[in-house]
Amino acid sequence: MALRIPSLPVWKIIVSFLLFVSVVIIFSGFYVFNLGNDIDGGQGGKLAITVVLIGILITFLSLLTIMAVRLRINRSMNKVIEGISLISEGYLDHRVPAISRDETLDLSNAFNQMAETVSATVNTLSSERNTLSALLDTMADGVIVTDEDGNITLLNKTAQQIFNLENSEYLGLRLSDVIRDFEIIQMASDCVDIEESIQDEIEIPEVRRYLSVTATPIGSGSGGGVLITVHDLTNIRQLENTRKEFVSNVSHELRSPLASVKAMVGSLESGALEDKKAANDFIARIDKDVDRMTSLVSDLLELSRLESGQEDIELEPVELRSLVDDSISMVTNQVLDGPDILSKIFENVEILGNKQKVTQILLNLLQNSVKFTPSGGTITVEARSNGGFVEVSVLDTGIGIAAEHLPHLFERFYKVDKARRDGGTGLGLAIVKHIVQAHGGAVYADSVEGEGSAFYFTMPLLKTANIEKN
Ligand code: ADP
Repeated sequence: MALRIPSLPVWKIIVSFLLFVSVVIIFSGFYVFNLGNDIDGGQGGKLAITVVLIGILITFLSLLTIMAVRLRINRSMNKVIEGISLISEGYLDHRVPAISRDETLDLSNAFNQMAETVSATVNTLSSERNTLSALLDTMADGVIVTDEDGNITLLNKTAQQIFNLENSEYLGLRLSDVIRDFEIIQMASDCVDIEESIQDEIEIPEVRRYLSVTATPIGSGSGGGVLITVHDLTNIRQLENTRKEFVSNVSHELRSPLASVKAMVGSLESGALEDKKAANDFIARIDKDVDRMTSLVSDLLELSRLESGQEDIELEPVELRSLVDDSISMVTNQVLDGPDILSKIFENVEILGNKQKVTQILLNLLQNSVKFTPSGGTITVEARSNGGFVEVSVLDTGIGIAAEHLPHLFERFYKVDKARRDGGTGLGLAIVKHIVQAHGGAVYADSVEGEGSAFYFTMPLLKTANIEKN
């Protein structure tokens, strides 16, 4: 709607005209009064008084009209003033009603149009701001913006996570009070000085993070702020470290049997072959070392298949009790003078699992327990239902595991006593963890050093008779 400047209102013209007429009438009255006195001996005077009274009446009526109109205009103006203060308080939906059809109608129309424009602009700005803040909060990179005084004007969620900032009240604080890293603060000030972006890789030891940081000046010279983007390289670095550790672990595991095989082959070549007893002994040891390397390679291959999800584990209803009984007899047959192994699963427990893989889990846990439980000790297998799962436990009265090792037991190559040559590769429990996870279950351990260990794993439960409930 185009605004127009209000023209001189009709009421003003009429009232002004009436005032003018009344003044003319009053003056004419006085004139006639003087003249009447002279001419008519009294009659002219009466007429003159009537004319003056009519003039005064018209003046009075005109003044009344002016007051009534002013009151109405005041009411309209008050409505507009009230509207302006409501809009400035944020009530953008407020509109002023058209009270009268005088010039204030134009004012209220103009006000309403302004309110319409302001509310549309604010809506557009707030929707743009919401989009921007959603975008910034879902970004994988941290973003921090500071003004020319180095105060933070924006800090997204990722930046909060990267710098371990729990409190969300950072806006307006100085960058140096929030990000306590000298290199980043220096980069922010340097990029303003040289008026160019600076990129660098930074390590923050307190939060154990590796970051790629870019500081870009916004605006020109020292008058502008700084945009800092932070890309977290921690996972990439950790992966690189894991890969290096993996290669070094595999090399380490292979080096000793290879060196031993090489030494024994050398001894055989340089004459031990002639000594039948020594030759047999060397060959037996070579065989054992080769077995160890073969087992390491097959464990590695299995772990790699499980980790990459290539291993197809088909799940079917499996009766747990018979799997436990079979595993116990297999392990008992391997050890002549070991601890007693018993199952406390007396009822049918049907789980959703893979027969071969569940047996592999049980064998691994039982063999570990046998390895670390002296003869005379006891190993017990139990089961109890836990929600939709069955929790199977392998409990032993062996040497136990110190608390600091418990969180690492299921990591690849983790051995509690690295010096002990028990023939293990440190991959067994990592494989167990992956198999259990492929069944949708979880695995955990508990132990008291010197008293024994407990290993637990859960499997989806199909049917149970009467196993103990948690
Ligand atoms: P490995 O394949 O060499 O047996 P595991 O991954 O199965 O390795 O086990 C990791 C480490 O956990 C072992 O080196 C051992 O020290 C410790 N461990 C596992 N089970 C037991 C247990 N029942 N009692 C004591 N220590 C155990």
